[in-house]
Amino acid sequence: MNLKNYIGGRFVDGEELQKEGVYNPANGEELAKVPLSTKEEVNQAVEFAKKAQKEWAKVPAVKRAEFLYEIGFRLKEKKEHLAQILTKEMGKVIEEASGEVQEGIDMAFYMAGEGRRLFGETTPSELSNKFAMSVRSPVGVVGIITPWNFPIAIATWKSFPAIVAGNTVVWKPSTETPLMAHELGKIFDEVGLPEGVVNIVYGTGPQVGTALIEHPDVKVISFTGSNATGSRVAELGGRHLKKISLEMGGKNAVIVMDDADLDLAVEGILWSAFGTTGQRCTACSRVIVHKDVKQELEEKLVSAIKELTIGNGLDPSVKVGPVINQQALEKIHQYVKIGLKEGAKLLTGGNTITTPPYDKGFYFEPTLFTNVQPDMIIAQEEIFGPVLGVIEVNSLEEAIEVNNSVKYGLSSSIFTQDVNKVFEAQRDLDTGIVYVNAGTTGAEIHLPFGGTKGTGNGHRDSGQAALDVFTEWKSVYVDYSGKLQRAQIDTEN
Ligand code: NAD
Repeated sequence: MNLKNYIGGRFVDGEELQKEGVYNPANGEELAKVPLSTKEEVNQAVEFAKKAQKEWAKVPAVKRAEFLYEIGFRLKEKKEHLAQILTKEMGKVIEEASGEVQEGIDMAFYMAGEGRRLFGETTPSELSNKFAMSVRSPVGVVGIITPWNFPIAIATWKSFPAIVAGNTVVWKPSTETPLMAHELGKIFDEVGLPEGVVNIVYGTGPQVGTALIEHPDVKVISFTGSNATGSRVAELGGRHLKKISLEMGGKNAVIVMDDADLDLAVEGILWSAFGTTGQRCTACSRVIVHKDVKQELEEKLVSAIKELTIGNGLDPSVKVGPVINQQALEKIHQYVKIGLKEGAKLLTGGNTITTPPYDKGFYFEPTLFTNVQPDMIIAQEEIFGPVLGVIEVNSLEEAIEVNNSVKYGLSSSIFTQDVNKVFEAQRDLDTGIVYVNAGTTGAEIHLPFGGTKGTGNGHRDSGQAALDVFTEWKSVYVDYSGKLQRAQIDTEN
């Protein structure tokens, strides 16, 4: 299948454009060809988006929201079909793929509800016969840049709040996962979203991403991806005075205290560390464990990890799918070698799997290190694969300090039965998300999603907070006194 950009409400073939293969990471099968667009296609898409935005902003928010309800119902109808494509394209196991589509459905209905909210404020004026309020206005044309690891959910986190608030969108998906973008594009088309409200332009970051960021008519860039790319996006966007929202990497930890339910902790750790083959921004890659329960926890973890079935995620018995591509496989292996060199000890895993039937895909053994020190490279950098390291601590205070010693601040978790420890931890863990007696992953779409420190730049996806990215505050004063009333001066009258 030759994918086509979706510009101005039409799927347009850029025949002259270079094309790149899209491959199933489970077996190397070519699934499609994706166009590598140029600045020209971005300019066309922005032109349509700009034209559409003037009219779209005038459509009552309640009516805009009706499109989102329709999109939500279509996503629901197609859930299993979409999950199958997602697994083929990206590798995550079918149950998780289905959960990811559900996130899109949830976001559609949640943001559709915003059509009847989009709350502003009314406040008393300091002057008589004067009315004061603030309202949200759309920003204009929004540029969205998304990664491959959540190819549909993240697109919905960004595009749905953007459009309900009256913006129009030009979206650049990852070239690794354009099929999910194509499916979402088809749904936008099927529900009759007015032409130009959402446009999809495929291509590389340096070409399409840069053109989007530099375009004078694109007012906001909402980006999710790695820190290396995010800082480039911020730098370029800053030069063009763009509003830039960045959601980037994580180095997330589960803390296990000496009073924890260890079996529950093992389940939470396994789900967080090896779900999506460790390729979540919220993946747990560090276990920070109290010394008194370290050995028992490690024994339980090793035997549970050995039980994990590895393979093609379409097989419902598989728990760990492939990683995205050869480059990722090599990077993960490299980190394992670094860990060994740094003095960490492998308890299980540590290798790529190359025996048939795994030889055609990109598989890495679920891996557990022990004797990891907090300052080791494997305890500091985002590995983005199924590699977990155990760090021993003596107290809650030390655990929190170790958790906070990384440059990232996305997600953290603590397993304990002690309510005092729970509250101390949720106060002091320097992350945007904290879980208690659950792993580091499992965000729900109606709360803010994002992180502190190197994970982001202060914005949030999801929840009400997402609306702040896609709206400007406008303060409106209506003076119905019939005379000039000067603020701060005529207040005695
Ligand atoms: P990436 O940074 O390589 O790519 C992300 C997107 O940016 C892609 O669409 C890519 O084409 C584009 N891009 C690349 N170079 C660009 C440039 N110069 N200008 C503009 N755009 C450019 O990330 P990835 O490998 O696709 O995704 C994995 C990363 O995303 C991990 O670091 C992960 O933690 C992070 N992530 C974060 C969150 C979050 O919400 N915090 C969620 C999911 C993934």
